[in-house]
Amino acid sequence: MKKTALLHDLISLVFPTNCLACGENLVQGEDIICISCLYHIPKTNNQFDAENETARRFWGKVPVVQACAFYLFEKGSVMQKLLHALKYKGRKDIGIMLGKEIGQALKNSNQFTDIDLIIPVPLHKKRLAKRGYNQSACFGEGLASILEKPLDTQTLYRAIENPTQTKKGVYERWENACGIFQLTKPEQLANKHILLLDDVITTGSTLEACAQTLLLAKGTKVSILTIAVA
Ligand SMILES: [Zn+2]
Repeated sequence: MKKTALLHDLISLVFPTNCLACGENLVQGEDIICISCLYHIPKTNNQFDAENETARRFWGKVPVVQACAFYLFEKGSVMQKLLHALKYKGRKDIGIMLGKEIGQALKNSNQFTDIDLIIPVPLHKKRLAKRGYNQSACFGEGLASILEKPLDTQTLYRAIENPTQTKKGVYERWENACGIFQLTKPEQLANKHILLLDDVITTGSTLEACAQTLLLAKGTKVSILTIAVA
């Protein structure tokens, strides 16, 4: 192998230049997945409907101004592949890319423009240390850069660790009542409209518990945004 080819391969290894979904070479301006694959990921269009499926999950549980899950998460889909790599394979860049993509779409349609700051669902400090990053904060980083809003990863924190999968059913029933999430300095959130983020919404119980906690600060309003809905 020629030295230049080896160098090229090494660079490709560090900076992948193929679409994560279809494997085709990426062209300039494309990032992680090609424009065609990105375009074909099914969207919910939640942001155009105040009474959408995602918002309905919170009805009667916690008051939220607006709720939107941007993409549909289907088994075996490109979105599943992206979110898996974001969460388990160290691909923080995927979260940032999706944050920018979703941020641009929301900005173009004038949605979520009246929020004051962005807060991702926090990981417990032990989980954060193990993974090295919070995937929802990566999403927040990309989103914040486009919406030009501050990202706050400090004020809301997870005081109690996640349970194991087997205990999850039991756990979810008492999640909201037990102060799993807490605020360091609630006064910093006073009178703010907070955009609460997560990677995927499933039951919505974690987002609900976070929203309840954020609403304990004086005069706050909460909206919810996730990359996808399962
Ligand atoms: Zn592709």
